[in-house]
Amino acid sequence: MDEEKILTLSEVSKFYTSAQNIVVGLHRISLSFSVGEFVAVTGESGSGKSTLAHILGGILPYESGEMFFDGKATSSFDGADWEEYRSSSVAFISQNYGVLPGASVIDNITSALAIAGLSGREAKSRAKEILEEVDLTPFASRRAAYLSSGQKQRLSIARALAKPTKILIADEPTGNLDPENSEKVIRLLAAAASERLVILVTHEFSEAAPYVTRHITLEDGRVAADARLREAPPEIDTPRPEKEGATEKTARPASSPLALPVRIAVLAAKSRPVLSLVLLFLFTLETFGIFAFLGTLIPALDDTSARIYSSSIFQNGAPTRLAVIRADGAGMTEEDYAAVAALAHVSRVERYGYAADIHYAYRKNTDYTSRYYYSFGLLSEELTEYITLEAGMPFLQTVPVLKEGETFLTEGKLPGSFYEAVATRGAATLGEEVRIFLTDEKNYSRTQYIELVVKIVGITDIGEGLWLSDEVGALAESMTKTPDYLWIPSKSTELSDSSVILSAERINDTVKIPLSVDTPGFELTGVGRNQSTQRNLLEVSQALYRKMTATAPRDQLSVTMEDYAYTDRVIADLAAHGYAAISPRRVGADRFDAEAAEERYLTLGICASALILTALLQIFLLSALLSSQNDTYRLLSDIGLREKTAKASVLLEIFSLSILGQILTFFVIFILSRAGVERLLALTRYLTPQRWILLFCVGLFFTALTAHRTLKSLKKQVYPNAAKENDLPRYTDEEVTA
Ligand code: ADP
Ligand code: MG
Repeated sequence: MDEEKILTLSEVSKFYTSAQNIVVGLHRISLSFSVGEFVAVTGESGSGKSTLAHILGGILPYESGEMFFDGKATSSFDGADWEEYRSSSVAFISQNYGVLPGASVIDNITSALAIAGLSGREAKSRAKEILEEVDLTPFASRRAAYLSSGQKQRLSIARALAKPTKILIADEPTGNLDPENSEKVIRLLAAAASERLVILVTHEFSEAAPYVTRHITLEDGRVAADARLREAPPEIDTPRPEKEGATEKTARPASSPLALPVRIAVLAAKSRPVLSLVLLFLFTLETFGIFAFLGTLIPALDDTSARIYSSSIFQNGAPTRLAVIRADGAGMTEEDYAAVAALAHVSRVERYGYAADIHYAYRKNTDYTSRYYYSFGLLSEELTEYITLEAGMPFLQTVPVLKEGETFLTEGKLPGSFYEAVATRGAATLGEEVRIFLTDEKNYSRTQYIELVVKIVGITDIGEGLWLSDEVGALAESMTKTPDYLWIPSKSTELSDSSVILSAERINDTVKIPLSVDTPGFELTGVGRNQSTQRNLLEVSQALYRKMTATAPRDQLSVTMEDYAYTDRVIADLAAHGYAAISPRRVGADRFDAEAAEERYLTLGICASALILTALLQIFLLSALLSSQNDTYRLLSDIGLREKTAKASVLLEIFSLSILGQILTFFVIFILSRAGVERLLALTRYLTPQRWILLFCVGLFFTALTAHRTLKSLKKQVYPNAAKENDLPRYTDEEVTA
């Protein structure tokens, strides 16, 4: 075989098979072509011209015979060899242009050059030269869709010319053109033929006749005539910039392996801007769906809120409350309070943990006793007053432990004694004297209460209600711990250290209070009747009380969290810092509340459906939309885009859109929850960093499923050859003629 022959067909046959019959495309064709030839292929419609062009272009497989490229038998080519052949050795111009309508003129060319292995800069400068050659420079940035047919065809030719290949095949490039444009196109091809093999399929031989070196006529898939017309195409006077090595196979630059897929992904996205926006919107929507799903599911997994609260252990079962002790059992110090207050999601630390289980009855203009005096006053001569516990009645609180940089008071001063308190603005006014009733419902009945009159000495904007002195906190704690109450007079009256105020029936008694083994205790004389309904209450002077309780260690504090959602995190955080904490709300979570439980199951059901819907939306809708880009990839594959690169580019596009969608979702959630959309804010509270990552991963998982479907469709619609070729039955000539 002549080694100058770049392409040789030997007895090549091509059959098109359908359900019933087999059509002969080419029948035992034998032809050879060399670089420098400009070959016109003509023949009637259906004579096999396109079939021949596509086989030579490596686009169609053939059934029998052999095609040699550079002396190499192509029957030994595998899929990758064919891709290499199409991308590096052949430039193909099809009748329907094959340009990307959504991409600009220059992008159409540079992308083809990038596919052929040129670097970005090389591609750009070469594209500019070639546009000059085909008179398309003024239209460089115009979208190909807006070009006239002549311009599109010239773009298609420019793209082929720009590609540094030795073979250029054009299938009826002038089919849709007027004579003037046809002439331009043929002259361009003729000029190219000086350095390449140019094969021109045409139905109009007359317009090619002045330029071609050879004329092949096909008839029913056979070569009817093969005539040599001249040695070389005539010198063409077109602006031909210097193009040294243009036809030499360019070595693939050692650029990043991702450079080309990124380029193609950007091109594909840019070519269909509306589609890209819709995809981005759907990815965002989908992430939002996952967020709503997880954000609802996670709180619903905790059944505490579906259970009725039992106050048998903790009177105060506020969901945001935690009862905290030191893990080593030691008493709490100021350092402990500060350490706990500094933890994340802790909004308030109450030093007197037991006091937080004691109600205080106080509301502006509400007398909790007189109301019940009339209702229940007849029950007993002595028990004339009742305290009723209303839903939502507050629990005792003392001046809280401050977080760093926090100021408590806005006006006045902190309480300096038992009889002073701070009020949150609106609860009471500065200087006012208010009567409060303390009652521990858990240990005693509501007929047992302690009265205290306090003066408001400070105002705060924090929290609500009244903030009592530390001394009242300590007093209240002793009330929960001992059956005999040690107390102080309800009003700030002078009482000597040897006097005690007793209940009505014990008035004038002498009582001895044994404190501990090494203190003899105190002997006190009753001097009056106390205001309390508690029979065992002993009211002593403030000074004596302080003396008696000075050393009592406090071992439990009460934490208020920003939200119940943080319970697990704060408990874990406390444990890490050496504290043991429990959530009273959880400890007291008793039997299920039927309605709340049903609602919880409903929520879980809705969540599961939402996830399934999200998955379906994601996987089917998105992959269908993404597959509509297959047109783009088919065009690119015709000019040599490898399957591997196409896949990488599709993956890149999908995952970039998905990640961008996720970022957008997080951004929208952030903005909306900052703007005070409480429902969203509630969901975000449950999302720990790990759960955000989980959310992200679920999104990526769905994206991977979408990608899988999209790639399957890409393979099926754009790169079916590898699989199909093997499936093709190989017919013998006898079978066909039979
Ligand atoms: P031309 O380009 O000269 O018009 P073609 O190469 O397109 O001719 O077609 C040659 C023969 O092969 C015709 O009989 C045509 O009907 C048949 N043919 C072409 N493509 C297909 C196809 N995809 N399936 C079945 N038959 C085909
Ligand atoms: Mg044709």
